[in-house]
Order: sequence, then C-alpha cells, then structure tokens
Amino acid sequence: MSEAATAAVAVEGRNLVKAFGQGNAAVRALDDVSVTIAKGEFFTLLGPSGCGKTTLLRLIAGFESPTSGAILLDGRDITALPPNRRPVNTVFQSYALFPHLTVAQNVAFGLQMLGKPKAEVAATVDRMLALVKLEAFAARRTSQLSGGQQQRVALARALAPAPQVLLLDEPLSALDLKLRKEMQTELKRLQTETGITFVFVTHDQEEALTMSDRVAVMSAGQILQTGSPRQIYTRPANRFVASFIGETNFLTARISGGAAHLAGGVIALPAGTADTASATLAIRPEHLRLAPPGTPGALPATVAHSVYFGTDSHLHLRLADGAELVARQQTSADGAAGPEPGTEVGVLIAEGAVQVLQE
Ligand code: ATP
Repeated sequence: MSEAATAAVAVEGRNLVKAFGQGNAAVRALDDVSVTIAKGEFFTLLGPSGCGKTTLLRLIAGFESPTSGAILLDGRDITALPPNRRPVNTVFQSYALFPHLTVAQNVAFGLQMLGKPKAEVAATVDRMLALVKLEAFAARRTSQLSGGQQQRVALARALAPAPQVLLLDEPLSALDLKLRKEMQTELKRLQTETGITFVFVTHDQEEALTMSDRVAVMSAGQILQTGSPRQIYTRPANRFVASFIGETNFLTARISGGAAHLAGGVIALPAGTADTASATLAIRPEHLRLAPPGTPGALPATVAHSVYFGTDSHLHLRLADGAELVARQQTSADGAAGPEPGTEVGVLIAEGAVQVLQE
C-alpha cells in the first residue's frame, strides 16, 4: 500500500476472530472479519440482531480483546492498548449520562479526567453545547431532559475530547420515529462539521442508507459486502444483502446466450453474463412496469392481489410457472385503484434492473 493510501485509513481490522465460551458452547461472534475505514468517513455496520456488530465496535473501543487478528488505528497496532489509551470514544444507546450532574458538568467530565486546564474545559464545553444546540440547557440536570436532548448531551460529551474515531452503538434506537429522523440529520451534520470518523452500528437499513458514506453488511459474524449505499442497494453481492436491504424479487432462470430464460419469456442481461443451468435473479419491485398483455418483451402474468401503502401500492403478480413477483406502483393523484385480482397483464423489466446473484 502506498504511503498516501495508508495515511487515509483511520481504522483497520485484520482477520478479526472473536469467540465467546468454550467447546460445544463456543460462539464465533466474529469469524475472520477484515475491514478498512477511511479518515473522516461515516461508516456503518449494518446487520440483523446477533450478527456481531456490537462485538466489532467493542473490539475497536478496546472493551474486548480479539481471539485472533489485529486492530490498527492510524496505521498503529493498538490491539493490546487499553480503552482509555485509545483516541476513540463511544456513544451508547442508553446515553449513560450522570443524572445528578448538569449538562455542562456531563460534557466537562471527560476533559477533567484528562486533566485539561479549567479555561480550556469551559471553552470546549461551550463549543460542544453550541454544536449540539443545547447552549440554553447548560445548567439543567440531565434527568430533566427529553430523550433526544439527552442523546445530544451524550454526543457532546463523547465529541468533547476530540477523539479520532467516534463509535456509535445504535444511538437512536431509543427515540421515537420523528425524533430519530431529526437526530439522523443532526448526526450527519455533526460528522461533516467535525470531520471525525464515525463508526455507526444499526440494524435499520433505512438509517444506514440515508446517513452513511459506506456500509458494511454483516451476517453471522462476517462482513458480506462493503460499499456505498448506492452500491449495496443496486449491486447487492448476494441473496442475503439483496433481501436485507430493501425489497427484492428472486426468480430462478436458465441463462444462455446473454439472456435469462423463464417459463413465460426471456429477459435480456448485460453482455458477457455467463451461461448457467440455474441462476437466481434479483429484481427490485420499483423496476417492474405493467403493460397490456401480449406486449412484446413483457412476461405474461396475472394479478394475485394488491396492498395499498398510500404513496404506492404493491401489486403481487403470478407468472406462468407460478412464481410470484411484487411490482411497486406509484399511486395516481386521482386516487384511482390499480388492476383487480385476476387481471391478465404483461410485466416489463427495466433494462439493467436484473442482478444475477452468486448464492
Ligand atoms: P444486536 O443488534 O442484537 O446488538 P449484534 O449484531 O450487535 O446484535 P453482538 O452483540 O456482537 O451482535 O453478538 C454477536 C454474537 O456473540 C451473538 O450470538 C451474541 O449472543 C454473542 N455474544 C456477544 N457478547 C457475548 C458475551 N459476552 N458472551 C457470550 N456471547 C456473546
């Protein structure tokens, strides 16, 4: 790796394994995970409950030691360094504030522990409270704040010592939906303004897509794919990623001569797609269009039923071989209903919308 490339890396995990317990009861929370997080990046670990997100975060923080593998920060091996010697801070879901202290005292706490001079502590506290828009609350006890305000204090406190990396473990999951959306925007702003590397853990795919520069999708102790939100949504590497992020139709088809052959017709594929007797195709519901039956290039289908969501409807369609597809249709301004169950239709698939998945 060149020097410039090394300098741009904030955190690196190399072949990390973390096993809990012994013998038959052993759990491999992390199973050979390697990850590279760039400086100044908003990087998200996304995956279902139990996939190992928190364990990876705790290894970076130093609360746990890896069974094998190494953690590097700024190119330096910190695997053996205790948490308080790492230039890393963590924000937890539970906020973990001191209820008997004021907002300002909570934010000052870490700085005082580091032995910073009084004037510097006061100036930093003011700056941090301005950053999270809580200047007016400096003298309040944290027990007298709303959940969203408490989370802002927790953020200010974690950012105050200017860590190189901020780790955030599902920090918004205790908030109601409206507040969570506001805090998503707020967190993104804080990250951009401070330029600090954020490593964010969530099981919420929308949160991951809307906030992150890059996302690592995890399952069963492994990272299955890392990429920008756009990359993982439009080019999922496998079936798990395709189904965990957004909704996906899966079809089985034979591929030959650059086309997918299904019972009811043929779908053109990108040039160079290899022939195979049985492949899984992934197609997003928003990339299907209805056409009159018999339209050239359309797969014949029957409407099974539809589900109305307000902004759009999901039409469940049955193909000639019995396979089901879901098509997402924008609802029309005049409130007109879509086709009735039993209606014969054609299904057009937008060019480039078909992903051939590796299982
Ligand atoms: P969640 O979203 O539910 O917090 P997660 O993706 O963060 O899940 P982890 O908390 O990292 O998952 O846990 C990964 C696996 O390791 C799980 O099977 C969990 O039960 C196990 N595990 C985590 N910590 C311990 C521990 N201290 N002792 C034993 N097993 C553990």
